[in-house]
Amino acid sequence: MAIQTVNPFSNELIKSFKEMSPEVVAVEISIADETFQSWRKTTYAERADLLHGVAKLMREQRDQLSKLITLEMGKLIAQSYGEIALSADIIDYYATNGEAFLSDQKLETEYGEAYIKSTPIGVLLGVEPWNFPFYQVARFAAPNIMAGNVVLVKHASNVPQCALAIQELFAQAGAPKGLYTNLFVSGSLIDDVVADPRIKGVSLTGSETAGASIAAAAGKFLKKSVLELGGSDAFIVLEDADLDKAVDWAVIGRMNNTGQCCVASKRIIVLEAVADEFLDKFKAKLTGLKVGDPMDEDTELGPLSSEGAVIQLIEQVQRSVRAGAKVLLGGKLIDRKGAFIEATILGNVKPGMAAYHEELFGPVASFYRVKNEQEAIDLANDSSFGLGGSIFTNDIERGKRLAEQIDTGMVFINHPTWTQPDLPFGGTKGSGYGRELSSLGIQEFVNKKLIRIS
Ligand code: NDP
Repeated sequence: MAIQTVNPFSNELIKSFKEMSPEVVAVEISIADETFQSWRKTTYAERADLLHGVAKLMREQRDQLSKLITLEMGKLIAQSYGEIALSADIIDYYATNGEAFLSDQKLETEYGEAYIKSTPIGVLLGVEPWNFPFYQVARFAAPNIMAGNVVLVKHASNVPQCALAIQELFAQAGAPKGLYTNLFVSGSLIDDVVADPRIKGVSLTGSETAGASIAAAAGKFLKKSVLELGGSDAFIVLEDADLDKAVDWAVIGRMNNTGQCCVASKRIIVLEAVADEFLDKFKAKLTGLKVGDPMDEDTELGPLSSEGAVIQLIEQVQRSVRAGAKVLLGGKLIDRKGAFIEATILGNVKPGMAAYHEELFGPVASFYRVKNEQEAIDLANDSSFGLGGSIFTNDIERGKRLAEQIDTGMVFINHPTWTQPDLPFGGTKGSGYGRELSSLGIQEFVNKKLIRIS
């Protein structure tokens, strides 16, 4: 993919960037590896100082950084502000708690004394997507830098200015050269980076195709990988739920980031008894969304991230409709410049259809009616994905009982799947493996070294 900023609101090419040659990449890896040798010896307090500095600068530069996000991938500007705030919170969270998370762990053992020491492993590669250009990087870079590793980041090719801005924040905060390095390389060159013996691990957030490819490259050289891939979260509404609240959350769960979230509420599953009422209210809310410029704070439905993304999504919708799905709302491109598609609800979605099996990365909800809670759980689990999910009910014990039967990495009761610094994030099945955020996210790329004293 060409490395360039194309404004998805106007489809206008704003700026192009040159890809790095393999020689330049090799120099960047050398610098990173050299920096690791000194960074690993720094104290947690020194690392925390740097990270708090990055978070502070991020907050100070909120407006310009948010505008970059919106310019490059079309996120509504208010949501871009939210992303910058969340990213800064994640960085502060690891700066504040990282040392405790990695402190020596004494073991109860029959003979002698023993403890586990967590030590950094070296240079890590992060391959990051465009949908949350700061948040995705923050949750990879902050814990790993706090742990004493150093990072190279290959960001998505359509958010190069965000990619450079993050590197610049680290530089402004006083990071040594090589601690955080942006790599302008395409997906095709990345296998060679993974193969470099100085790279010790790789973390990817993105599609299943990219994940399978990077995991194969890492596996070939026995390197650890963490994968956070797509999802098709079920949003289950039981008959005893507070329906108005559930509808409001369904709108947010499906439409946040114009539907381009791995944990978006893509499959709305409602018990028959309340299905009509839910659908009427859900439709009414989606119909009223104001379409427009994502830089305008009044806009409620902006463009997708690119023309390519909107073409892919409409093709999935049309394929589903040809196979028998019914358009209950929307279903068409919006007749204006830019990567716009109507807020869409599909009904009569059945096994074999694109909407049933594939990830729909945009404002398209699949709506299902089910007879009872068992049918809801069976449908939720009939997916190759296993990322998040939610259950709406006024009976929390019932919600917990059902949550335990859903095969995903995360289930939220009375809330769409969400993220915050202190909650683990990640999936199972085709949604990948490993965890980011919380105390778990910092443990992925450290050596859990046993020290035994006789
Ligand atoms: P990709 O998975 O292609 O992109 C994510 C990152 O992986 C980018 O940095 C990309 O680089 C890189 N990449 C792509 N192919 C490879 C490869 N073979 N080896 C290593 N790295 C690679 O996502 P797309 O932007 O193409 O979106 C396609 C679909 O992926 C979406 O419709 C959605 O279903 C899913 N997706 C899920 C995300 C999530 O949050 N889980 C985020 C983004 C996408 P480059 O940009 O240079 O191609």
